[in-house]
Amino acid sequence: MSAAIAPEGVAEDVGAAMHALIADLYPICRSITGDGVRATLGKLKAYIPLTVFEVPSGTQVLDWTVPQEWNIRDAYVKNSRGERVVDFRRSNLHVLNYSAPVHRTVSLDELRDHCFTLPDHPDWIPYRTSYYAPAWGFCLAHAELETLPDGDYEVRIDSTLAPGHLTYGELVLAGEASDEILVSCHICHPSLCNDNLSGVVLATYLARHLQRTRRRYTYRFLFIPGTIGSITWLARNEAVVPRIRHGLVLASVGDPGHLHYKRSRRGNAEIDRAVAHVLRHTGQPIGVMDFTPHGYDERQYCSPGYDLAVGCLSRTPYARYPEYHTSADNLDFVRPDALADSYEACLATFDVLEGNEACVNQHPKGEPQLGRRGLYESIGGKSQERVDELALLWVLNLSDGGHDLLDIAERSGLAFGSIRRAADLLRAHGLLISKPRAFGQ
Ligand SMILES: [Zn+2]
Repeated sequence: MSAAIAPEGVAEDVGAAMHALIADLYPICRSITGDGVRATLGKLKAYIPLTVFEVPSGTQVLDWTVPQEWNIRDAYVKNSRGERVVDFRRSNLHVLNYSAPVHRTVSLDELRDHCFTLPDHPDWIPYRTSYYAPAWGFCLAHAELETLPDGDYEVRIDSTLAPGHLTYGELVLAGEASDEILVSCHICHPSLCNDNLSGVVLATYLARHLQRTRRRYTYRFLFIPGTIGSITWLARNEAVVPRIRHGLVLASVGDPGHLHYKRSRRGNAEIDRAVAHVLRHTGQPIGVMDFTPHGYDERQYCSPGYDLAVGCLSRTPYARYPEYHTSADNLDFVRPDALADSYEACLATFDVLEGNEACVNQHPKGEPQLGRRGLYESIGGKSQERVDELALLWVLNLSDGGHDLLDIAERSGLAFGSIRRAADLLRAHGLLISKPRAFGQ
């Protein structure tokens, strides 16, 4: 099926379109390498002009090695009547991801040793992986395992682990400056929606939008397998790393829970302040958490040798919802309105980063006389162009070159957009100038 393309700027339709793209990607069996990743990136290419990179197995990347490529065609457990009691064709979660090939007859006891279930959620299939230790196994509903009678079972996993490639996608949208905003998502999970397809479609739709806008920053989007993908990208892009000023890892952004942000390792980077500001002004409950060396690819971007200003945006953080890494993380668990809300939060964050700067008041001795300059005519106007008198006074007072507009928004409790509009008005009247940026060209 082809995904609906939403009209520009209509949030509800963007949410529906993102959900439709999740539905299109959902059946594909992805892993950290293999044809599922290629098929996924192939579909995304219909939306954004991704470049796909192939890195050979065995390539040394930082302290890691690109693994053998995994591909799977079929897998099943058959009972003595030849019936498939576990069937990869019904759910790709049934196979331990990265399973070595196997074709044997085993007893129920031996089969059980290779089965993963969730006794607390007996109808859900768990998602398990074994990337770096060779193993074979099946994942199934606990209730189904309990119904299997004693006897012999034919187990078959028709997979290959062979020299091949690690595949990832990258899109760079050049801005006026070479300084970059990094947006990273992982593409290595099979049929799981919130973790990770929600991040994939959000990054895709953000890139689609940004392609059409004027950009001060250069934006770099990465669609990579978790951990090994960011390590591979970092190893191959040492020259790019110094240009990354801000970054966001997107994961679990489609569930109905509230928005959460995990700060970068630095803790007070501009991205940390920008996202926290945007979330606070949504008027909804939100969570802002300190960095921990656990989670998604921010672990690699924030490793001490890089220490990039990269945080992680989620709704309910990973592992804090029971559906996490189970078959219940399905198309019903992710909601168009939640996806649209995450999309709006990201765009608002980019607006802050694009518009943030330090300014200098040109009449710092006493307040300049606003009425004489006609500034009061702009105050209290309608809608978007409205400028608050309080915002003007805050900008004038704190624009000593040492505070940026985001500082002023935070200190005043006003939204960044209000502060930005006040600064634009003051600049138009010659009362304010931008402090030269420490910005690349
Ligand atoms: Zn995951």
